Amino acid sequence: MFGFLKQVGDYTRDAVDAARNLTQGLAVTFDHMKRRPVTVQYPYEKLIPSERYRGRIHYEFDKCIACEVCVRVCPINLPVVDWVMNKETKKKELRNYSIDFGVCIFCGNCVEYCPTNCLSMTEEYELAAFDRHSLNYDNVALGRLPTSVTTDPSVQPLRELGYLPAGVMDPHDVPADQPRAGQLPEQVLANLAPSAGADAADGGESSATAPAKEESAE
Ligand code: SF4
Ligand code: SF4
Repeated sequence: MFGFLKQVGDYTRDAVDAARNLTQGLAVTFDHMKRRPVTVQYPYEKLIPSERYRGRIHYEFDKCIACEVCVRVCPINLPVVDWVMNKETKKKELRNYSIDFGVCIFCGNCVEYCPTNCLSMTEEYELAAFDRHSLNYDNVALGRLPTSVTTDPSVQPLRELGYLPAGVMDPHDVPADQPRAGQLPEQVLANLAPSAGADAADGGESSATAPAKEESAE
């Protein structure tokens, strides 16, 4: 008797779980059915890339020490560091530096490991060219300052979905002075700064929980 009742209880619980999961899935579907498609009128309108977007690499010739760390950490040994040894000074003399963006996978390893921080990833993503050989950037092309969607007067910058205020689905509906939904990296660091001293006192426990607290506050 008790075995039969247990089977009925298990069956009922499974049926309720299945109904709840089905309802949750359909809720997402119905939520999307209410949304209108959002069209970005490129190239007159452009989405603002996120702060950690990995676009075209910027290079500062004067800071490069020709150590070739970037070549060794690159999964395809892509950067070409052209240097000669000056026999009088017994120091390397950098002649040229190039990266072929037709081959680069924008992994960011070279930027991460460069000891002098002369490499950085920019938000520039418009690298289309008629000839793939023109994607091989030398140190002059790599040293060019990147274009920015937010400072280009001919472009209407639009926020990506993750940066829209809560409840807004279309970036065209957001006034330019509306506060963004998320926090900028410097704001996150500023919020974490006061807890840095407390970390030392409590063995670093609070630093691990700080991001979680911020997320729950948002
Ligand atoms: S790692 Fe940096 S400093 Fe070294 S060669 Fe590459 S770009 Fe130059
Ligand atoms: S981003 Fe990655 S693939 Fe491109 S040059 Fe740097 S290390 Fe190599």
